[in-house]
Amino acid sequence: MPIPIIQFSKKVGMTPEQLRARSTALGFDIPSDSNEVDDDLAELLEEEFEKEASDTADSYDDMVAAEMEKEMIKAQRKQMAGTVKSKGSKSVQVQEVVHRATGDVVEIPDSISVKELAEKSNLSPIKIIGELMKNGILANINQQIDFETAHIISGDLGIKLKRKHSAASSEELLSGDLDKLLHEDDPSVLEKRAPVISIMGHVDHGKTKLLDTIRDANVVATESGGITQHIGAYQVEKNGNKITFLDTPGHEAFTAMRARGARATDIAILVVAADEGVKPQTIEAINHAKAAGIPIIVAINKMDKEGANPDRVKGELGEYELIPEDWGGDTPMVPVSALHGEGIDGLLDTILIVAEMQELKANASRPAVGTVVEAHLDPSVGSVATILINTGTLKIMDPVVVGSTSGRIKIMQDHTGKRLKSIGPSAVARIAGLSTPPQAGDILQVVSSEKVARQKAEEISELIQEGKMQNMGMGLSEMISAIKEGSLKSVKVVLKADTKGSLEAIKQSIAKELKSTEVAVRIIHSGVGNVTESDVTMAAASAGIVIGFHTEVSAHVSRVAERHHTEVATYTIIYELLDDLRKLLSGLLEPEEVINELGTCQVLKIFFTGKGEMVVGCKVLEGYASAKSRIRVFRGDEMIGEGEAVAVKLVNEDVDRVEKGTDFGLRFKGKLKIEEGDKFELYRKELRHKTL
Ligand code: GDP
Repeated sequence: MPIPIIQFSKKVGMTPEQLRARSTALGFDIPSDSNEVDDDLAELLEEEFEKEASDTADSYDDMVAAEMEKEMIKAQRKQMAGTVKSKGSKSVQVQEVVHRATGDVVEIPDSISVKELAEKSNLSPIKIIGELMKNGILANINQQIDFETAHIISGDLGIKLKRKHSAASSEELLSGDLDKLLHEDDPSVLEKRAPVISIMGHVDHGKTKLLDTIRDANVVATESGGITQHIGAYQVEKNGNKITFLDTPGHEAFTAMRARGARATDIAILVVAADEGVKPQTIEAINHAKAAGIPIIVAINKMDKEGANPDRVKGELGEYELIPEDWGGDTPMVPVSALHGEGIDGLLDTILIVAEMQELKANASRPAVGTVVEAHLDPSVGSVATILINTGTLKIMDPVVVGSTSGRIKIMQDHTGKRLKSIGPSAVARIAGLSTPPQAGDILQVVSSEKVARQKAEEISELIQEGKMQNMGMGLSEMISAIKEGSLKSVKVVLKADTKGSLEAIKQSIAKELKSTEVAVRIIHSGVGNVTESDVTMAAASAGIVIGFHTEVSAHVSRVAERHHTEVATYTIIYELLDDLRKLLSGLLEPEEVINELGTCQVLKIFFTGKGEMVVGCKVLEGYASAKSRIRVFRGDEMIGEGEAVAVKLVNEDVDRVEKGTDFGLRFKGKLKIEEGDKFELYRKELRHKTL
């Protein structure tokens, strides 16, 4: 219904003449022969007046004045509305708008606009802007302020703020960024949680035996009397304290999970056989634990054996900065015999002492966040996954997103097969109810509904397809930009060489010649031999690089490196190695763009045409086709445009590569409309660094 100009001008606190003039100035002419403002125009004008008021608020004073003007207009409007409503009925006193704090706890996200904060806390925005001002922060009503800032001013405003446990973005979930998810502002909600232990060490030193012995002797018997099953993790109790063990011995699983961002372990147990001492994988394990920044407890195993010599083991470990407590160091070393179950109690006690010092805590009363330890497809139950809870409580029927899959927790069991209704921090359970099996290292997050879970999983799966791989590896280009902007202060290097002599020579040269650079080189692991998968995952997990000297890199290892987005550079001349490192450290290693032609294909069929996306059937004519490649599209001899191969599929499976002569499906992204008979040239643009 049109509003008479007189009424509308009152509503916005102007005279009719002022209103006409302001409207014209804003580009909304009210015809001179009209005495009414129609609804749409009225709404537009109100919005414009509000916007104008905040836009013109340049200085703080202007801003406050504008805010006050708006508040007045609003109050007037309310009053008028009150008067209108009261017409013909009993006179209704229009209530004054009273702003006051409720005294309740107001939950806000990581960042909030002044306006939203005002609404949520039932306060005037002016008051909030004023309080911010007192703290030296200039903000207008639409400005976003972060939780910390809001928290600073909340006390004086008489409101209690609590951070809402925001769902992590898909990118954060994908990159395994647990920091935000695990963060708690209020330490009073935190409770002690059990430590999570990984067992590492050289092959045959007794890792599996130790895990078995601890499990068999200490697992709490359950009423179900179920046979213990291997679910990738278990929990034991010692003197009323729980300890969680990841039941996958060796550092490979540990590092693979770390490389995907998971932070599943609190303490590493390094198993060293008393009769054999330190071996290559012992050193690797030490460096993996060090790179992860977790404390190490040494279990000197096989003490029952004739040649057992714990002092020799201790001496050898000293070379790697692990000095036993009884020699004045700070690494607990416990002699055990996994075979005879001797010393196990002492080992568990030591774990509890180390855990106590770490002050491991979590909030049990919030929706769960967990990490996938292991997952597979079970023929009878479907997808099953073992989940370690990082924080919160996971309950039966909770809707969850786990990596690129989702579902509802339908069954939850412990390692004895006992059905569980809920599990808290540091506990592990095997769950069923996900649509497809996730991957070890994926993050589980409880969300509000199954629909939200599905959406998140889809977003994550798209991010994966777009090539944002699930890992923490850092490519050279990112590394160089990080160095240039000053956010990277050290480059972590896994160094491999053909001989011990050259390894030492390189280490010394790096220490001597690159010591004055602003960005430091940190060798997180070094060893003799070819570059292995483990070297790459270790570098990836630490966002570092692998450097090989006179070493081979197999095709498999190169693929792992590519998947982990991690640089592996090999050299045969020390001078060149140092020179490249120096350039890298100073951010001077400029990349060059290289075009890599992959192959050609012909479009045989159009399956699907969507907005900016098509799915087509093709045949490889030359070379090969691969996902994540760019495409030149030819119709006849003419190139009609470019696009991108988002995925290539054989039957319904996504594949990395399709060879010459094969028919396959291709998901095309681009603005073109592809037709049958078009030809594709697939290529990749790669950034190469001149030498490194
Ligand atoms: P892993 O490769 O480190 O997992 O080693 P295993 O746990 O498979 O053990 C390798 C071998 O050492 C097996 O034959 C075990 O029985 C044996 N073993 C493990 N612990 C002990 C021990 O404390 N004493 C003796 N004598 N043998 C052990």
